[in-house]
Amino acid sequence: MLENLEEYTDKLIEEFEAISKDAERVQRETLKSILEDNASAEYLLNLGLNGKTDPESFKACVPLVTHEDLLPYINRIVDGEKSSILTGKPITHLVLSSGTTKGKSKYIPWSETLLDSVTQILQTAFAFRDRELPIKNGKCLSIVYLSAQSQTKGGLIVGTIASHVVGSKRYFEAMAAIKSEICSPLEVISAPDFQQAMYCHLLCGLIFRDEIQLLDALFIHSFVQVFRTFEQVWEELCNDIREGVLSSRITIPSVRTAMSKILKPDPEKANLIHKICTGLNNWYGVIPELFPNAKYLLAIATGSMEAYLPSVRHYAGELPVVTNDYGASEGMVATNLHPTVPAEFASYTVFPNCGYYEFIPLSEDSSACVDPKPVGLTEVKVGEEYDIVITTSRGLYRYKLGDVVKVTGFYNSTPELKFIRRSGTLLSINIDKNTENDLRLAAVAASKVLAQEKLEVVDYTSHIDLSKEPGHYVIFLEINGKASEEVFGECCNSLEKSFVDPGYTSSRKVNNIDPLELRVIRPGTFQKIFDHFIGMGASATQLKTPRCVPATNTKVIQILNDNVLSKYISTAFN
Ligand code: AMP
Repeated sequence: MLENLEEYTDKLIEEFEAISKDAERVQRETLKSILEDNASAEYLLNLGLNGKTDPESFKACVPLVTHEDLLPYINRIVDGEKSSILTGKPITHLVLSSGTTKGKSKYIPWSETLLDSVTQILQTAFAFRDRELPIKNGKCLSIVYLSAQSQTKGGLIVGTIASHVVGSKRYFEAMAAIKSEICSPLEVISAPDFQQAMYCHLLCGLIFRDEIQLLDALFIHSFVQVFRTFEQVWEELCNDIREGVLSSRITIPSVRTAMSKILKPDPEKANLIHKICTGLNNWYGVIPELFPNAKYLLAIATGSMEAYLPSVRHYAGELPVVTNDYGASEGMVATNLHPTVPAEFASYTVFPNCGYYEFIPLSEDSSACVDPKPVGLTEVKVGEEYDIVITTSRGLYRYKLGDVVKVTGFYNSTPELKFIRRSGTLLSINIDKNTENDLRLAAVAASKVLAQEKLEVVDYTSHIDLSKEPGHYVIFLEINGKASEEVFGECCNSLEKSFVDPGYTSSRKVNNIDPLELRVIRPGTFQKIFDHFIGMGASATQLKTPRCVPATNTKVIQILNDNVLSKYISTAFN
């Protein structure tokens, strides 16, 4: 297979062409196979499908659900009940989703069938990318951290999606088949301390710097984190390479042993890296300088990750930043088949054999109905927004994923989706309703004001402050420098002016909501929040910044408030 990479990628593209041309039939078959495999599941038996596997009967018998609706079933699985509850074959493994969007991790049934979709999507996306951004026999600097797996009281194995996928032999084989060998040893990837793993990832990347053709991560936030760390530790990394001796900051014996096999004294390389680092202007373009044969960076860069694009592009210089795929711990959905389109405009093409998909229309016409009817994969309309619903072989039937997507077109007969936002309202005090996307646009508006002073928003979050009637929005911004009082004041007003939802503006005009407050926080505060979540067992690979922190999350609120540098009250409605 390895010698015939081109033949192999051509075959993958041909297979995708075939399924995407026949998406409706493939969807019917996928549903049939999911329902046949799980016909003995208690959940389906109780719904009276009686062996029917067609979409019409399925929709008539099975209700739309959320994770909460399934909790009574999932809890029995977590507790170790061995019967066929949601699936035909009992579930033995669970995925713990990152949970940062809603503030709570969720257990989700897992089985090896998800690896089929992951590897199919990974390899097909590579095949498409390779036509435009070819990679030849290179290594990949993969910023990935596998958190350790654990067991529930009921004896089920729990891990993050990354630990189940990246830790599997099949993933390594799939990567090898497309010639993207990860440069870090497994001991580094699975190190129990993510700071030590990050340092070693950087060191491995530098050791193999001429061979690195690709840098990848799950979310682009990981690139920001790793290159911000590089700014702090580059001299130490150079010393390690010069002497061939690993820094004493790495204390995990298995990591030290694994690194000792690849770290050899190389003063010439150390001097070259030193020269590169001292010659850069504010670290612009550090990535192509360090990795001269890198072709692109690959990681999810849409949705809440768009906020990090300016920082990643700063480090990446002229190198393309390609957004990767769209999926969740619950199941895979789609991938990016147009790698040269900038992430802001990217769409993801749905794989019609990776699950059964339905779409609840969100247009004004549809939301006028109390209960808008979901439509099938091939019935969606270009330009419409939908709440996505997924059915998988792992026991999720008509499950609302909690994401809003917009159909931007079709690839053959399968739709291409732009990720819009998490569903539901993020900020609301009374009749106002602002989504994750509204907050993102407000942060973009604030960034534009700060750009006048050559400053950037490092990260942002929000909070509803109800400590004083009638309550107000608080926006926390971490900024990479200090602006004048006037600029911060302007920034605060631009944040408030961005919330154009009539519920918000009308409440503000009659002071049913108090003026928005901007709290500027100390550099490094979001890293402290990140460390807090890691300490609670979250996965460093999957973690996303919570975009709204509820009052109940007292620890995160405390970290934010302890680090406030200055506060501003909006005068936008004065
Ligand atoms: P988790 O299961 O915790 O890894 O999170 C899955 C969620 O991440 C999805 O439901 C989306 O909200 C978000 N997500 C995944 N892929 C993308 C993407 N390509 N663009 C934007 N958000 C994404």
